[in-house]
Amino acid sequence: MCASDFARTPQNQVRQKPGRAHYDRDTIYSILDEALSCHVGFVHIGQPYAIPTIHGRDGDVLYFHGGRGSRLLAHMQTGQPVCITATLLDGIVLARSVFHHSMNYRSAMLFGVGAVVDSLAEKFHALEVITNHVVPDRWADARKPTEKELGATAVVRVNILNASAKIRTGPPVDDPEDWQLPVWAGVLPLGLHALSPEADPALAEGIPVPSYVSAYSRSSP
Ligand SMILES: Cc1cc2nc3c(=O)[nH]c(=O)nc-3n(C[C@H](O)[C@H](O)[C@H](O)COP(=O)(O)OP(=O)(O)OC[C@H]3O[C@@H](n4cnc5c(N)ncnc54)[C@H](O)[C@@H]3O)c2cc1C
Repeated sequence: MCASDFARTPQNQVRQKPGRAHYDRDTIYSILDEALSCHVGFVHIGQPYAIPTIHGRDGDVLYFHGGRGSRLLAHMQTGQPVCITATLLDGIVLARSVFHHSMNYRSAMLFGVGAVVDSLAEKFHALEVITNHVVPDRWADARKPTEKELGATAVVRVNILNASAKIRTGPPVDDPEDWQLPVWAGVLPLGLHALSPEADPALAEGIPVPSYVSAYSRSSP
């Protein structure tokens, strides 16, 4: 274990297929940063929820935003724990046998405790982090939130206390006695790709598509 690794505890230790586990921040955070959205899981008044939402990361802190009536916000105000997951699908794995079909994926699971962000300065910072997470460089271009807009936006921070990643790569793993079956086997790779940008019909004339839109990609260069 190195300094950037999360400690393995009963909470984050991968037990099923432990060879696919990763505990280092670089791997875990690269998945989180590539994923456009995540799911935040929590139990609110005895009922489990898994809410899909946008996130943004700053070091070991994750930021979320939403409306003032957000259930996530209501939960965070109680100081209870949350579990966050992000999944990237890299391929469908077709084995000769149904039993060995699988998916190539990179997924991360993080554990932490949240808090509501009250300070206007941290809210402003969090919204910059979230905006640039989705579209790098967008914050510098777009109009910034007014104090009234900041007041209408709920921002939540989660300090990441523990985490793990699980990654599957490679071809199917069929039983050797099935290798000669007349059934196609292999991987159908998947990826997230942006299509052509569609300008707002109300866009003022003469505004070119910014390079951060025309060259948009989720995967690292
Ligand atoms: C990709 C993605 C990104 C999102 N990003 C954000 C974000 O950054 N901030 C934000 O505030 N919201 C975001 N949302 C919406 C978010 O999922 C919730 O709808 C929102 O946070 C309100 O949650 P709530 O529990 O307070 O809603 P409530 O309206 O109180 O939920 C009531 C019920 O409505 C249903 N419901 C609520 N949300 C969904 C949903 N998404 N899908 C299906 N059923 C639902 C459920 O049955 C739920 O129990 C995002 C959704 C998606 C899919």
